[in-house]
Amino acid sequence: MANTIQEILGTAASLAKGMGITFKEMMSPTVTDEYPDAPPEFQERFRGVHVLQRDIHGMEKCVACFLCAAACPSNCIYIEAAENTEKARISGGERYAAVYNIDYNRCIFCGYCVEACPTDAITHGHGFEAASYNTSTLVKRKEDMLVAIAPGMTPPVVETASAGAH
Ligand code: SF4
Ligand code: SF4
Repeated sequence: MANTIQEILGTAASLAKGMGITFKEMMSPTVTDEYPDAPPEFQERFRGVHVLQRDIHGMEKCVACFLCAAACPSNCIYIEAAENTEKARISGGERYAAVYNIDYNRCIFCGYCVEACPTDAITHGHGFEAASYNTSTLVKRKEDMLVAIAPGMTPPVVETASAGAH
């Protein structure tokens, strides 16, 4: 008998708690995203299309260590590494990513690549309009993801053969 009363009281408490939340939500103002007429609001932690970052000097942060590719469970990151030289310095490390592709046909936005990166070179942006009927457009290249050189940053030195001849 005592158990039955306890169960009834427990059920009533759960119902009251649930109804309390429902009532609170009914009273709170409605929030409606007007997308696509207005941009949607994202939480800071939203994982969108990746961004490849630069350091304060404008150098690419990626040093082509392949740790992101190793951590990726979808095997969708493709990197080709190249050596920095005195004449062509692209990143702050010994190497840089000459090619850095992410295949968004396969990416599951798990964030493992971001977690694995030792230089914070790859982050999630808030871009989300990646859907396409043409799957070849879903392979994003370094040039698609790399942040632009901001004013005041010193661009990477790339001395071409013709420039060096002067
Ligand atoms: S978010 Fe996940 S699936 Fe997408 S590239 Fe990074 S590790 Fe791979
Ligand atoms: S993005 Fe980061 S983890 Fe991936 S190759 Fe570049 S430095 Fe390494």
